[in-house]
Amino acid sequence: MAPTSIAVLGGGLTGLSAAFYLTRRFPTARIAVYNAEARFGGWVRSDRVRVSYTNHDGKPENADVVLEAGPRTLRPNARSVLELIHLLNLSSTLLTVPKTSHAARNRFLYIPEYGGLCRLPSAPLDLFTLAGPSRHNIGRLLLSSVAREPFKRRNKRFGLDDESVDDFMTRRFGSEWSRIFASSLVHGIYAADARRLSLRSAFPSLWEAEERGNGSVVAGILKRSPPLTSGEGPTSYELGDLQDTMRDVSVYSFRDGIGTLTDALVRYLREHPNVDMYGGVRIMGLRINPRGKQFELITSAMETMLPTHVVSTLPLFRLHSLLTPAIRLPHLTANAYTSVTVVNLVFPRPPSSSSPLHPEGFGYLVPRPPDGYFNDSNRLGILGCVFDSSSTANQDSSDAVVKMTVMLGGPYASCSLPQVNVSDLLSELSTHLGRTLPEPVLVKVRHNQHCIPLYSVGHLQRMEELRHVLASEPWVGRMEVIGAGVEGVSVGDCVEAGRNAGRFWS
Ligand SMILES: Cc1cc2nc3c(=O)[nH]c(=O)nc-3n(C[C@H](O)[C@H](O)[C@H](O)COP(=O)(O)OP(=O)(O)OC[C@H]3O[C@@H](n4cnc5c(N)ncnc54)[C@H](O)[C@@H]3O)c2cc1C
Repeated sequence: MAPTSIAVLGGGLTGLSAAFYLTRRFPTARIAVYNAEARFGGWVRSDRVRVSYTNHDGKPENADVVLEAGPRTLRPNARSVLELIHLLNLSSTLLTVPKTSHAARNRFLYIPEYGGLCRLPSAPLDLFTLAGPSRHNIGRLLLSSVAREPFKRRNKRFGLDDESVDDFMTRRFGSEWSRIFASSLVHGIYAADARRLSLRSAFPSLWEAEERGNGSVVAGILKRSPPLTSGEGPTSYELGDLQDTMRDVSVYSFRDGIGTLTDALVRYLREHPNVDMYGGVRIMGLRINPRGKQFELITSAMETMLPTHVVSTLPLFRLHSLLTPAIRLPHLTANAYTSVTVVNLVFPRPPSSSSPLHPEGFGYLVPRPPDGYFNDSNRLGILGCVFDSSSTANQDSSDAVVKMTVMLGGPYASCSLPQVNVSDLLSELSTHLGRTLPEPVLVKVRHNQHCIPLYSVGHLQRMEELRHVLASEPWVGRMEVIGAGVEGVSVGDCVEAGRNAGRFWS
């Protein structure tokens, strides 16, 4: 049955993208988007704020800066996001970071036992220049493990169909390599413990590379099939000239931050005659009315809505709480959700005669300490720090200020988050950066509770089972469950999932 009325639960990036594409796929259906918060956008949150500072001549000045509490830069490989930018006419608001820039080339890890801030190689040749004689040398560790991996015998256990990121990396590259590189990567994307995260769900391309390389991940990566262009593949994307614009781009954002995307979606949906946007309306319950082939949604406004089809983009544990035992869906509470505290810091830029606040580059990540998360070696639970001014300074009205963002928490659950002691944080960052940081002109702390799903081992299989149940009675395919909790946490994954919503409804 073709949908006549569709309810989209959740107005974050996935829900907004789903509603956008549903208006195109079902132009005559009525679409309602319900979002618990009055503000749409979910974890995407960009704020332009005014900061006051004293310039080098001792005069008071103001600057407007964009601060992100959620995603801050995007990679151009997600074609679904590029398509949205094209369709929403946002190209003129893009800010791109070229692959040749310092922000693209210089990424660091902070590893105290390797001497502090270590630059990661940005090109194969760097592996040789960064590799030094010391045993505790990051280039040497990278080079030796990567060079040896293709000669290591195939060591995937027969019948294994998923494992943790740490187990996989340890198996192929060694435990120290995994602790340093894999844990840092996982901190940067998932704010999670690589020993708990499913490799197949989080990094499926590495799983496939091992298969393609007959047991060697490196060989599999080198054999990689050429990327699809916009006109190829199961569904082509409308990209305008964005594919060209993005050719030499490492990452990008917008003049007013990533919120530009969600704000434009909200504007489009509010203006669409078939769409009703319910901000500040929480869904409290969901039932199925089999006789009428309808759902019953109970809202916080104590109304009952009767859509024929539903797209849930809610965090899975929230969807679980809406369902009565008679219609409970499997696996909705199988994954924990991690919490992250984001601290935006704005400093006055030091005069050119003194040393900069940080090296030119994207920022740094902090790997899992050798003695794990539950001790004092990283007592504030710092996961990483982004040097925002290196990549997105053009968002701000003045270059007299420097902005940085620190991420804390995740697997360091024992840290007393969300209470961040700012002077302790500044002192810790000063140690990392090897210089005393000045007094910031602005500190903004935001605690994002349960914001990123931690796909535990077996997640793909569980989601397959969930889809199977949704395809059978009493759901019969009329409800889809998508969003960060299901098939990818990145902005690209969320938009792609929204783009596919309702694909099998006819
Ligand atoms: C700190 C942080 C940094 C990140 N950085 C990046 C990055 O740099 N790059 C990148 O690609 N990705 C990044 N991500 C990931 C990405 O931003 C998220 O995965 C994505 O925004 C999730 O979107 P969503 O719509 O699936 O979920 P959500 O944003 O969680 O949206 C769900 C919505 O549902 C609403 N809701 C909840 N319960 C109910 C209910 N009962 N009734 C109605 N509505 C309800 C909520 O109010 C919310 O608006 C980051 C995430 C975080 C938290």
